[in-house]
Amino acid sequence: MIVVMQKGALQKDVDHMVARIESLGLTSHVIVGVERTVIAAVGDERKMQVESLEIGPGVAEVMPILAPYKMASLEVKKEPSVVRAGSLTVGGGTIGVIAGPCSVENEEQIVASAKAVKAAGATALRGGAFKPRTSPYSFQGLKEEGLKMLATARAETGLAVVTEVMSPEDVELVARYADVLQVGARNMQNYRLLEAVGRVNNPVLLKRGPAATLEELLLAAEYILSGGNSQVMLCERGIRTFEAHTRFTLPLASVPYLHSKTHLPVVVDPSHGTGHTYLVPDMAAASVAAGADGLILEVHPNPERAMSDGYQTLNFDQFEATMAKCRLVAGALGKMM
Ligand code: PEP
Ligand code: MN
Repeated sequence: MIVVMQKGALQKDVDHMVARIESLGLTSHVIVGVERTVIAAVGDERKMQVESLEIGPGVAEVMPILAPYKMASLEVKKEPSVVRAGSLTVGGGTIGVIAGPCSVENEEQIVASAKAVKAAGATALRGGAFKPRTSPYSFQGLKEEGLKMLATARAETGLAVVTEVMSPEDVELVARYADVLQVGARNMQNYRLLEAVGRVNNPVLLKRGPAATLEELLLAAEYILSGGNSQVMLCERGIRTFEAHTRFTLPLASVPYLHSKTHLPVVVDPSHGTGHTYLVPDMAAASVAAGADGLILEVHPNPERAMSDGYQTLNFDQFEATMAKCRLVAGALGKMM
């Protein structure tokens, strides 16, 4: 349910309504908009006594939230959300570019990558220290050593660090080094992990599961938002289909679809979405054309020697050319990049 306050409602009226909502056993989330404040009341709907809330001081109206995801829904917040983390801004007409290797391999590799992607215009550095690999025999990441290398790369370049966290026990550790916590595709429905990242202050990049519907993605985001973390970015990274010419199928209609349902910014990952380096530049430009608020791209000093995902990774020159192409599209749409 949403309690829409009147324009110019007083803070004490908002506080009063929050107390009323909580006394009904519901959780309240206050969203201060440009025009007016709304209070989302979420929880067991049977407990909601609409009539008694409607007569509260400063209340304009009380409406049910029809979408199954509540906090993520445009019904609750009409203005698009902007997520910020240090050098990274995603949304509000600014396209954030998160670039770097699939995995952190050593200090030289991650620092060189950070410098090169920054020079080409990236606004954040990616790099996995905890790697979810299909095979237990594949490189699993450098763990805390890798996190320290990411922190060094941030110190040298000023770029915000985006890195994956795979389990609830690691959230505190990863949050100490990272600016943005990435929840990977394989963990989109790891509900304990979603709850854990909902309790910290770092923004979260939530990747779509390869077999998840967009409604399931939004409900996964809802776990994080309802836990108290409002800084969530959704990421379309491709889904499993019958098609074998690409590693995954990258459905770019997800971008305008999600924008029609949620205020959360949408990032696209053309690297995992295609699985082939030669397809990445065009799909990155297409993502921007589709309205993406951000891109996440795999870039490595020497993709041939990468310890993971080299076949879908851009080298520094290819990244620079991709940025130039994307900027043309962004400029045509009046966006900053
Ligand atoms: C990654 O970003 O390197 C990654 C593992 O992505 P995904 O979770 O989308 O497979
Ligand atoms: Mn990867």
